[in-house]
Amino acid sequence: MRALVFTGNEQAEVRELPDPTPGPDEVLLAMRASGLCGSDMHDYRAPPERLQARPVPVVPGHEPSGVVAEVGTGVSNVEVGDRVSVYHWQGCGMCERCRGGYAQWCPHATAYSIHHPGAHADLMVVKARDCLPLPDDLTYATGAYIACGVGTGWSALRKLDPGPEDTLAVFGLGPIGLAAIALAAPMGCRIIGVGRRAARVEAARKVGVDEIIDIDQCDDVPAALADFTAGGPTLAYETSGAASAHQWLMASLARAGKAVFVAPNPEPTISIPPAIGKELVLMGSFVMPVQEFWPLTRFLIRHAVPIDELVSHRFPLDQGPEAYRVFDSSECAKVIIEWPDR
Ligand SMILES: [Zn+2]
Ligand SMILES: [Zn+2]
Repeated sequence: MRALVFTGNEQAEVRELPDPTPGPDEVLLAMRASGLCGSDMHDYRAPPERLQARPVPVVPGHEPSGVVAEVGTGVSNVEVGDRVSVYHWQGCGMCERCRGGYAQWCPHATAYSIHHPGAHADLMVVKARDCLPLPDDLTYATGAYIACGVGTGWSALRKLDPGPEDTLAVFGLGPIGLAAIALAAPMGCRIIGVGRRAARVEAARKVGVDEIIDIDQCDDVPAALADFTAGGPTLAYETSGAASAHQWLMASLARAGKAVFVAPNPEPTISIPPAIGKELVLMGSFVMPVQEFWPLTRFLIRHAVPIDELVSHRFPLDQGPEAYRVFDSSECAKVIIEWPDR
């Protein structure tokens, strides 16, 4: 099979690797769509020494979507031909966190693309229990995007629980911020996107943003937010990781407002006192717990959420290195690697 691998310092190449075979309780997927996600960029930008220090060369890609091509012994939840998305964290399956639906918090958690080969390949072996049934109403591209970006966007948005009375400010218009806008639009709130880059602004407009603050054209973001709202946004959704965005958020959020932070910044970025006087609720959010996959897919179908409209670039696997160059430039919305549906 062909697989994309990172060779270090923002270089990638497509190599021929042996076809994998599924063991007991495992499934072989023929990939149909594989998304690029912001967290892939850590490895993409890593020096070659760090990549070579890995115990096994790992194929990147943690947004897999494909069709079941072969099943190992003991597999009963999927059959050859089933369309699936894949939950990209694996837990032990036995501990309290795993049994509560939080494999990503398992002390023994591992992930596809980090510890196991990922989805930028013609074929991928996954645990049968990580296969999530992709409804016929959703495309493979959506199946890939929901495996991380849209799923992360959804579980963070549920913490804010927007309603028609709310104004939601989304900081950062990358794949997660754009997904949050698409998901929030049918919830009836007013949405202000704070970001830059023409391709991302255009994508935000396609999926229902009400106002855009282009940070390259605006020298006072909190004042611009105040202009669009009475007393500041009631909800804030932070996906940029930028210290400036964290500060704008704290300065502009309305009294008793709620904020969720999805993107980290390694430095201290905010001062807590404003949260006391304004009684703000500040939350963090990690990847989607697996059980949210079902409500998310029902929501996407019921509201015909135009997730595919957010895919600005589609590449065949052979052009995977170019896909990463485009994604690295940020002059794009969502980027996916795609296979013809044979
Ligand atoms: Zn566990
Ligand atoms: Zn991701």
